[in-house]
Amino acid sequence: MSHRRLEPGRLVLASHNAGKLREFRGLLAPHGLELVSAGELGLPEPVETGTTFLENAAIKALAATRATGLPALADDSGCAVAALGGAPGVHTADWATQPDGSRDYGPAMERVMREAGHDPDRGCAFVATLVLAWPDGHTEGFEGRTEGTWTWPPRGAQGFGFDPIFVPQGQAMTYAEMSTEQKARISHRARAFAALAAACLPPPG
Ligand code: IMP
Repeated sequence: MSHRRLEPGRLVLASHNAGKLREFRGLLAPHGLELVSAGELGLPEPVETGTTFLENAAIKALAATRATGLPALADDSGCAVAALGGAPGVHTADWATQPDGSRDYGPAMERVMREAGHDPDRGCAFVATLVLAWPDGHTEGFEGRTEGTWTWPPRGAQGFGFDPIFVPQGQAMTYAEMSTEQKARISHRARAFAALAAACLPPPG
């Protein structure tokens, strides 16, 4: 299957999440792409009405490319807890959203413990779906997945979101105990990014 390739230049990250921005800046720098985020440009966050990671990533990428006239990259990601039938899934961010709209992951992680803690199955996977969108409406989508287990209590201060309770398969540390470089070797986002880079990015310089 042939994919459309990005030209070197500016790319909008359709996210207001500083943690994602930090991870993507590191991943994109070698490809000659300058990343500017929707948050930095003051773009509104579109309502994520999709029922899959792919649909939600496409909604965000298309909104950002239409608003800026630049190609845009969006990530829709979340964790799927086996004992909860794959929840919170596409609702991962909602679990952390407070009545005033801010996000607090402490209560969201506690909810995982409360609702899944009685089950001996600690399986959990992180999923990231990336969509690149161009101003003419063309899109390309890629998925990455990292299997693991959730743990309690939370450990580590790096990263963001649910990182302190996720232990990737074959690792002793949580995502939040890893450096950005360590996480980037195994993360769901890095795996999705590797597929996207091979298909659509200018080769690393
Ligand atoms: P989105 O911004 O709608 O894609 O929401 C993604 C949700 O999954 C947010 O709550 C994130 O904190 C969480 N999430 C996504 N990727 C990661 C990660 O690498 N570590 C921890 N939490 C993540």
